[in-house]
Amino acid sequence: AKSSGGNVYRYYVSGLQHHMAEELVQLNLLRSAIENNELTLRYQPQVDVLTGRVVGFEALVRWLRCDGTLVMPDQFIPLAESNGMLKAIDRWVLEQACIACQRWIERVRRPIRISVNISAAEFGRPQLLKDVSELLQLTELPANCLTLEVTERLLIDKHLPVREALQSLHNQGVLVAIDDFGTGYSSLSYLQSLPVDEVKIDRSFVKNIYRSSRSEHIIKSIISLAKDLDCSLVAEGVETEQQSGFLASLGCGVQQGYLFNRPMSEEQAMALLCSERVR
Ligand code: C2E
Ligand code: CA
Ligand code: CA
Ligand code: CA
Repeated sequence: AKSSGGNVYRYYVSGLQHHMAEELVQLNLLRSAIENNELTLRYQPQVDVLTGRVVGFEALVRWLRCDGTLVMPDQFIPLAESNGMLKAIDRWVLEQACIACQRWIERVRRPIRISVNISAAEFGRPQLLKDVSELLQLTELPANCLTLEVTERLLIDKHLPVREALQSLHNQGVLVAIDDFGTGYSSLSYLQSLPVDEVKIDRSFVKNIYRSSRSEHIIKSIISLAKDLDCSLVAEGVETEQQSGFLASLGCGVQQGYLFNRPMSEEQAMALLCSERVR
């Protein structure tokens, strides 16, 4: 038994070393990803189901490695975050997304909104606020066409100067959305005092509509809370007509999900917007 324990131990160590080596390789590849133009954005439409029109897009980053593998954000954002590289990624995403959105607006001549995910670690930093106002000037994107999505967890982290950041963005006219709403902590009191413009209903609740009455209750509460607080609403992860109809009947008309579109390239987004215009 003792010797087999030793084997298990040795196996474990080499597994761990392997894992660390792997991570190091990934990290070095990721370092050069920005310079080598390996990051790319996809845009997922947000649809107003009452009019059927696209009102905006969420920018979602992907890493297209030189060997052809497409790496999804869940697989590299945490790695980047723990190594201080997220700042550069977030900045790149913000810039590309603002440029793309301004191109769409110039072509279709109506307001289109772009939502950009900002990681919690970046949000409170003064540099982000500088970046945002610089980019709005540079790209000439109207401030009220830009929404920054932050997770609920961030808003209750007392260590970050979140209130100041939110207020400053708000003063510039930039909108702030709480992403994955309902999955964070139960204290909702911060909503009362923070200038939040939009609430995104998390996919996990949407998924369980018609499966669990608890999810339905939670969605109903989120919607009425958001309305009371004058926040706009976006439902994410809408995959079925049933889910869409249920949400719309409760007054959540702006929806995002595979029922409407998968995340798409900038050009596909342009084509989609243009096809709406002639109709
Ligand atoms: P998120 O912000 O909650 O983004 C929504 C995710 O749900 C996206 O996954 C999207 O492709 C996926 N999705 C959209 N509609 C549906 C649907 O109908 N069904 C299902 N099953 N999934 C749907 P993705 O693109 O893999 O992104 C994962 C997460 O990575 C995002 O979650 C976000 O937290 C993070 N992320 C993505 N892009 C960025 C970025 O540019 N910066 C930062 N900091 N984080 C990002
Ligand atoms: Ca998001
Ligand atoms: Ca989300
Ligand atoms: Ca999510």
